[in-house]
Amino acid sequence: MKIIDKLNHGDKIRISFEVFPPKTDAGVDKVMEATDRIAALKPSYISVTYGAGGGTSKNTARIANHIKSDLGVESLAHLTCASSTKDEVRKVVADLKALGIENILALRGDIPQGMPFPTADRFRYAYELVEEIRKNGDFCVGAACYPEGHVENEHKADDIKYLKQKVDAGVDFLTTQMFFDNDIHYNFLYRIREAGIMVPVLPGIMPITSATQMKRSRELSGTVFPRRFLSILDRFGDHPEAMRQAGIAYATDQIIDLLANGVKNIHIYSMNKPDVAAAIMGNLSEIVKS
Ligand SMILES: Cc1cc2nc3c(=O)[nH]c(=O)nc-3n(C[C@H](O)[C@H](O)[C@H](O)COP(=O)(O)OP(=O)(O)OC[C@H]3O[C@@H](n4cnc5c(N)ncnc54)[C@H](O)[C@@H]3O)c2cc1C
Repeated sequence: MKIIDKLNHGDKIRISFEVFPPKTDAGVDKVMEATDRIAALKPSYISVTYGAGGGTSKNTARIANHIKSDLGVESLAHLTCASSTKDEVRKVVADLKALGIENILALRGDIPQGMPFPTADRFRYAYELVEEIRKNGDFCVGAACYPEGHVENEHKADDIKYLKQKVDAGVDFLTTQMFFDNDIHYNFLYRIREAGIMVPVLPGIMPITSATQMKRSRELSGTVFPRRFLSILDRFGDHPEAMRQAGIAYATDQIIDLLANGVKNIHIYSMNKPDVAAAIMGNLSEIVKS
């Protein structure tokens, strides 16, 4: 089923999760096991990330297919284009189509280091990938957005202008980069709606359960951590179990605030951690029924 049809159907609260494929084939079983446990939580869908460089691309398709065909949960396969040629990207799209995958998250990905970019044989921006996917099948197409602005863009107005171009190219829904201050999200929503971007936007919530994870997230995304979060880290960062509990509580609190303010669909960056996903679902057990 297309994710956009779920998002447009009824007023139910829907929670989705994310898994990432292993770097080598040796890790596939472990990821499959984590995926099975996350699927047992009956999420709206599970997304599968795509490793830069395309090396893990076959595992993205394999895991997305397992989720859909064996576990009976809808899947969303991520696809990046910057580190692959247009022909390689077309091949992945054809493979996803052949597997019956109906949902693709179209991304540029990180610009490959030590390689000339852009080049004529690669898509430069995600909107070009969106156009390509649209030409090659009846997919539901998602894309990324950045409530704090994308790191490469100095001006937020430009970011929203390019986001509009991407959505107009054929995006059905957006998922946000992680954020830790909901007011940033509400402000972003206001600005994009004003710019005429009307597709559903799923807030992406990352439960931070260790000091190391927080450091890595900050380096990767440049995300702002509010004082309230930093106090938690100061107090519990050196106590792994306490930090884990506090991180789950923080993410739960963010989700409850979003739901209380009219958001219906939440995407959780569950990072192959079924225990964390289950703890959050447990915290929301009555809330999701409301
Ligand atoms: C929800 C989500 C999921 C992700 N999943 C993955 C994943 O699975 N694998 C992975 O490797 N990475 C993933 N990423 C990271 C993502 O690939 C990077 O953030 C990347 O740097 C940007 O990708 P994009 O698709 O947003 O690019 P784009 O939309 O192409 O934007 C990239 C930059 O170019 C600018 N831009 C866009 N169009 C134009 C234009 N016409 N002219 C000038 N500038 C323009 C934008 O403002 C932005 O600064 C994910 C990010 C998010 C938020």
